[in-house]
Amino acid sequence: MDSTEFRKRAQELVEYIIRYQETLETRRVTPNVQPGYLKSLIPSQAPEFPDNWENVMKDLDDKIMIGMTHWQHPRFHAYFPAGNSYPSMLADFLSAAIGCIGFSWASAPSCTELEIVVLDWLGQMMGLPEDFLFLSPNSRGGGVIQTSASECILVSILAARFHIIKRLREEYPGEEDEALLAKLIAYSSKEAHSCMEKGCMIAFVKVRGLEADDDFSLRGDTLLEAIQEDIKKGFVPFFVSCTVGTTSCASADNIKEIGPICEEYGIWLHVDSAYAGSAMICQEFRHLFEGIEYASSVNTNGNKWLLTNFDCACYWVKDRFKLNEALTVDPLYLKHSNDQKSIDYRHWGIPLSRRFRSLKLWFVIRMYGVEGLRKYIREHCRLAKVFEKLVRQDPRFEVVNKVMMGLVCFRLRGSNEINEMLLKVINASGRLHMVPSLLKAKYTIRFCVCRENATDDDMRYAWNVIRDFAEVLIILRQD
Ligand code: PLP
Repeated sequence: MDSTEFRKRAQELVEYIIRYQETLETRRVTPNVQPGYLKSLIPSQAPEFPDNWENVMKDLDDKIMIGMTHWQHPRFHAYFPAGNSYPSMLADFLSAAIGCIGFSWASAPSCTELEIVVLDWLGQMMGLPEDFLFLSPNSRGGGVIQTSASECILVSILAARFHIIKRLREEYPGEEDEALLAKLIAYSSKEAHSCMEKGCMIAFVKVRGLEADDDFSLRGDTLLEAIQEDIKKGFVPFFVSCTVGTTSCASADNIKEIGPICEEYGIWLHVDSAYAGSAMICQEFRHLFEGIEYASSVNTNGNKWLLTNFDCACYWVKDRFKLNEALTVDPLYLKHSNDQKSIDYRHWGIPLSRRFRSLKLWFVIRMYGVEGLRKYIREHCRLAKVFEKLVRQDPRFEVVNKVMMGLVCFRLRGSNEINEMLLKVINASGRLHMVPSLLKAKYTIRFCVCRENATDDDMRYAWNVIRDFAEVLIILRQD
C-alpha cells in the first residue's frame, strides 16, 4: 500500500468507524455464533498473493463483525467499561504510525518522558500522595503504564517476593531459597479479582482469601487475625492486596485499617483500583482512598473508566528503586549513555518492548480536561442510581450491593437457579448483555453503566428488558 492508497483507505476507515459507532444500536449486543464458527468461513492457510482492500473489508463485515460482542453498544452492561473515545482512538492510531518501542529512555525519549508526565498528572488528579509521583525532587516514587491490572499486581508480588527473600536469606543463612519461598504467604479479600490468585500462582507463593464484612469490605481485624495465626504456624506474611472497587460488586476494602497493620509487619501493601481508581478524580470518592499513604503500590486502568482504549493500566510505586532492583537485568545491547540519568521503563515490568501508550491518555486528559472527566464519571454514578431506583421499586427484586459507583448488583428474590436462568435468557436474546457474580453465596446479576454517553433512557430500556423477561420466567415457573 503506497501513501496515496493509504490516504484513501484511512479516510474510508474513519467513515466506517463513525458509522459503526453511530449504528451500534441496530446490531445485537452479543453475536449469535457458536465456538469455531469462523473456521469454516476463512481459509485455513494464508494467501500466497496480495488480496485487495475491498475483499478484506467485505470479509470484515461478513465474517468478523458477525462474531463480535460489541463492548461500546448502549446495551452492553457486562464487566466494567472498556475505555474508548475519539481522542483516544486517534492517539492510538498515531502511536501505531510512530511505531516506536519505548523500553528505554534512549529507545524513544519522548515516549518515556510523556509517560512520566502523564502518570504524574493522573496521580495528582487522583490525589495520590506525592511519594508516588516523580514530581518532587527527592521522591523515590513514580508511575508507569503496564498492559493490564493483572500485570501490575503480578509485578508487585514479584517485587515484594524479591525483597522478603533478600531479608530472609540474612535471617536464615544456609536455608535454600525454595525453603524460604515455602514460608511466604499473601492475603486479599475473597472478593479480590482472580488475578491476585493467578499472580500468586505464577510467583509460587501461598495466598489466603479472607472473609469480607457485610459490605463486602476487608477489615483490619480480619487481616490481623490471619497474620497472627499464620506467623504462629511459621509462615511469613509478605504481601496484601486491597481492592477499591471490587469486580464482584464495586465494594472497597478498608485501607485505613489495613495500612498500619501492613506497616507494622513490614508487608508490601498493594491497592488494586483497576476500575474505581479513576473515580478518585472526584473529591466525593477520595474517602475510599483513606490510608493510601501506607501502600507500596497502586494501580488503576485508564482503559476501564477513563475513556482511554486498552491498554492503559496505570501503576505507581512509592519506591521505584526497590521495584527496579527486583526486575533489572542489564545486557550491553540495551545500555545507553544516559541510563544513569533517565528512567528506563524496561526495569518496571515484565516485557521489554512497550508501545507509546501515554499518548492516548495525554490526548484524553487534554481533550476532556479533568473537569470533563469528572463529569463523565459522575454521570455514570448518577445513572447507576437511576437504575438502582427502578430495581428497588419492584418488590420482586433486591439490590445486593451498596451502589457507590457505576455498578448495580441485583437479583430476583428467590433461588440462585431462577437468577441464573434469568441472566441466561436475557443474554441469549442479544438485547442486553450482563455478567453474574456470587455475593455471599447469592447468584447476582451485575449491571454496569458502560457507554460513554449513556442516558436515562438506556437505564429504562435495560430495566424494561429485565422486568419483561423476569415476568415470563415467573409465569412459566407458576405453571
Ligand atoms: N482488578 C480488578 C478490580 C478488576 O476489576 C479487574 C478486571 O476487571 C482486574 C483486576 C483485571 O484487570 P486486567 O484485565 O487489566 O488484568
